Amino acid sequence: MPEKFIFKPSDLATLKDNYDLVIIGSGGAGLTSAIQARELGLHPVILEKMDKIGGNTTRASSGMNAAETTVQLDHQIVDSFQDFYRETYNGGGKLNNVELLKYFTEHGALAIDWLAQHGIKLDDLTITGGMKVMRTHRPSSLAPIGGFLVSELLKQADRLNIPVFTGVKVTKLEADDDQITGIQAVANQHEINIKTSAVILASGGFGAGAELLKKYRPDLAKYKTTNQPGATGDGIALAEKIGAKLVDMDQVQIHPTVQQDTDHAYLIGEAVRGEGAILVNRDGKRFVNELDTRKKVSGAIDDLDGTGAWLIFDQGIRDRVKAVEFYDHIGLVKTGASVAALAESTGLNADNLKQTVEKWNGFVEKHNDSEFGRATGMDRNIAKEPFFSIHIAPAVHYTMGGVGINKETQVLKNDGITIKGLFAAGEVVGGLHGNNRIGGNSIAEIVVFGRQAGQQAFKYLN
Ligand code: ADP
Repeated sequence: MPEKFIFKPSDLATLKDNYDLVIIGSGGAGLTSAIQARELGLHPVILEKMDKIGGNTTRASSGMNAAETTVQLDHQIVDSFQDFYRETYNGGGKLNNVELLKYFTEHGALAIDWLAQHGIKLDDLTITGGMKVMRTHRPSSLAPIGGFLVSELLKQADRLNIPVFTGVKVTKLEADDDQITGIQAVANQHEINIKTSAVILASGGFGAGAELLKKYRPDLAKYKTTNQPGATGDGIALAEKIGAKLVDMDQVQIHPTVQQDTDHAYLIGEAVRGEGAILVNRDGKRFVNELDTRKKVSGAIDDLDGTGAWLIFDQGIRDRVKAVEFYDHIGLVKTGASVAALAESTGLNADNLKQTVEKWNGFVEKHNDSEFGRATGMDRNIAKEPFFSIHIAPAVHYTMGGVGINKETQVLKNDGITIKGLFAAGEVVGGLHGNNRIGGNSIAEIVVFGRQAGQQAFKYLN
């Protein structure tokens, strides 16, 4: 067995007071931009406020969307940038920033290749809600994408000797005449000043940021969150202080399938539905096209009067989604040797559930869901014992709003002028997703725009 790779954060004593490039946040966007910048010859530093590296990225489960990839062709899927663009645009309520969306949909395939060149192979495919073809790339081990990606990117950061400091919270961006000159941070209660001409904000969203959520979406107070506790939108506030424009701040995504019967909220990845699971209500009946957009599916579950809903699937689907092993391991999954036994252990009406599953299997066979019009995630039926259920309900998951950027990832002010030397990538940015982020598009965003931020910072500094 190969030894498990463990990344060691840098010793705080080695933190310098001057870097060519400071990257705030160690999630996928921060790591990707650092690797890209380092390979171009810069000497970036990554500052992470939490003890743990990886941010919300480590929690991502489904995969990375991209069109026109060789991986798709290997699976006989002929896709196009235009379809990827159109489906994301429709899924986002046509509110997406079209400049960013165009760049995004046309650079996903290059990003998949770039990852592969770094030994990070995403050569299996699945599908997520709102997409019409399989374009969600994931590792062939079927491991959840987030943990896999962060640990692979960290291997590259290690190879390139990129310093990553944990426990360092950036508290201020210094700018002179709309031009970045440095940052302030706090570590072990000590203030730190670092001089730099370029900063990449890769500090994530505010899905766990009570203050910002209260300000922009007070109606969401009732929901739990799937986000790590550090997702408090610091970067958005820091950029706003030096004049950055904020966009779509009230666009917050509620994820439809979150197990929240314990204190913790566990997101049940969309791949479970993508590989064939259905959703039923307390009566054991379907009530929605399970692979409609997150917004629509969440709305339908909220309309069930607070009971939540149940994902129903079988061993065949479980074999296709490795994350289910984890869900089961921590006690989120109920099992039954038959559909009737599953209904009993779940507390659902057995006759109804049996009928629902039989009817669904008929739809799968004909590839025609005459009840709710589902057209994807129908490659396998629910017939291979044992059978499983997971109780879910919607929770706050992703913040579509954030700082305004152009396709060069330069941060914009309200007047459209850029703040020189300030770049942003990942969930901290607003606009790409419109009013609804499609599953698989956030991982794609961090790699596509993380690379772009690294490249543009290099260009700026040279
Ligand atoms: P993305 O998916 O855009 O890469 P993530 O949520 O994965 O975003 O990562 C963002 C990271 O930034 C998190 O690990 C978070 O703890 C970190 N972070 C947020 N605010 C600060 C801050 N003020 N200083 C340093 N790190 C921060």
